[in-house]
Amino acid sequence: MTSTNALQFPISEAPPMGQPLAVAKGVYWLRMPLPFSLNHINLWLLEDDVGWTIVDTGINTSACKELWQQVFDNHLNNKPVHQLVVTHLHPDHVGLAGWICETWGLELYMSRTDYMACRVLMSDTGKPAPTAAISFYQRAGVSNEQLASYKAKFGGYGKGIYPMPESYVRIQDGESLSMAGQKWNIIVGRGHAPEHVCLMCPALNVFIAGDQLLPSISSNVSVWPTEPHSNPLKDWLDSCAMLQQCIPADVLVLPSHGQVFFGAHQRLQRLIDGHEKSLVKLLDACQQPQRNVDLFSQLFRRPITDDVLTLAVGETQAHLNYLVNKNKLQASTDNMGANWYQTI
Ligand SMILES: [Zn+2]
Repeated sequence: MTSTNALQFPISEAPPMGQPLAVAKGVYWLRMPLPFSLNHINLWLLEDDVGWTIVDTGINTSACKELWQQVFDNHLNNKPVHQLVVTHLHPDHVGLAGWICETWGLELYMSRTDYMACRVLMSDTGKPAPTAAISFYQRAGVSNEQLASYKAKFGGYGKGIYPMPESYVRIQDGESLSMAGQKWNIIVGRGHAPEHVCLMCPALNVFIAGDQLLPSISSNVSVWPTEPHSNPLKDWLDSCAMLQQCIPADVLVLPSHGQVFFGAHQRLQRLIDGHEKSLVKLLDACQQPQRNVDLFSQLFRRPITDDVLTLAVGETQAHLNYLVNKNKLQASTDNMGANWYQTI
């Protein structure tokens, strides 16, 4: 057992890519590669008497498909996959849902908002960047070069996703699913994704957290151009507080990135405190009017390169919108179309 920041990591080594590792009765940890600086995702395999449930799929790459094929060939004890659950709409989680459903003749279990939003975002793939998105980044104050790079890369979301199943089964907060012969309660979190499914098994005291609770990274909480006035940071902070009430302090957390861990309540508190600290920094910086892009150094330790620009603008805007909603900041627009924020 190793520990940092009061968290405990009962399994010090993650399993090799594509090799399932038991973490609780009937519950297996499966790691898959990602072609990003975040280079892996954790997926979950749950075995019962008649078959397997898969929770999350990995991204649509040939490397992930090959690893899945090895799992199907070697690790299923001659039982079929009979259920597929996806926690939320991001390509590393939903990327191979269509392919796994086709392979096993399955229906996809997903929240309604994330299924629908995924279908909408995929329909943008191959189209030019919309005017609403361009003016969103202009209001944030990004340079013409950055805007050109954004336009050139637009539509990347759908590239990581195999064609989605054309229908699905809606799952929602308060319902439950049977997996690994146990009852798992569905708890929906918000802020990172619109309607993120987490799964809590009281009998095993295990919590499948998705990206709603990660041990070492703070999940991205972003405003996106389709809903520029949204307040996802409020959703996120409310969800963190809700989870502190809903899941036991001693639960084993199975996160989508990093190691499985104990210390859910401490980690949730640390996430809340981190955002609160950022909000104080922004209010301080905005004593003098600032644009979104002027505030990156207050929120991020590393320099913001083009590949993470939309995440940085989105996360900064989430903090700004939170403060505007609290009447602590006001915005005015200059003749270049950029918004300047000042503390009230
Ligand atoms: Zn995610």
